[in-house]
Amino acid sequence: MAAICVFCASSTTVDPVYLALAADTGAALARAGHVLVSGGGRVGMMGAVATGARAAGGHTVGIIPRQLQSREVADVDADELVVTETMADRKTEMIERSDAFLVLPGGLGTLDELFEVWTTAGLGLHPKPIVLVNAGGFYDGLLAWLDRTVAANMVRGDALKAITVVGDLDAALALL
Ligand code: AMP
Repeated sequence: MAAICVFCASSTTVDPVYLALAADTGAALARAGHVLVSGGGRVGMMGAVATGARAAGGHTVGIIPRQLQSREVADVDADELVVTETMADRKTEMIERSDAFLVLPGGLGTLDELFEVWTTAGLGLHPKPIVLVNAGGFYDGLLAWLDRTVAANMVRGDALKAITVVGDLDAALALL
């Protein structure tokens, strides 16, 4: 059993296929006996992953900043709801409480969280695995651009290897 932190979109208007992916992710983590750590909101994929985990009998930990409790609709059904003072505290808490990170499609907040765990892993500040679920090629453009940063000697090639990119949820679960 591990604590798995899932980063994903909070948008309420994403394609239902992404909401289903989030719900399936939560349910699969719960069935595997993992604890879900998430952003502590009920909106978008973030809400779907937590609801999916609980529907499958999983234990969920939500971590939400005080000022986002109404905007992201604090997940009061979470088994543990942690309210932080700042966004930075939220990320720190999510990183400290988790054994691994699963990144689903998302927006700027998801990218911020991905790069936070990625850059800190690259600096050797934590050894926790990071798995990027490139569902339907969602992250193809980002990954291609990151290859350019290596070609331009802006990023070390081995830094990019600090994350594992998989094409779907099953492949991600096999790694966890
Ligand atoms: P998004 O992918 O933009 O829908 O955001 C996903 C989640 O990331 C939301 O819960 C945002 O509140 C959160 N988020 C956005 N920016 C930050 C940040 N700087 N630190 C921590 N969480 C953030």
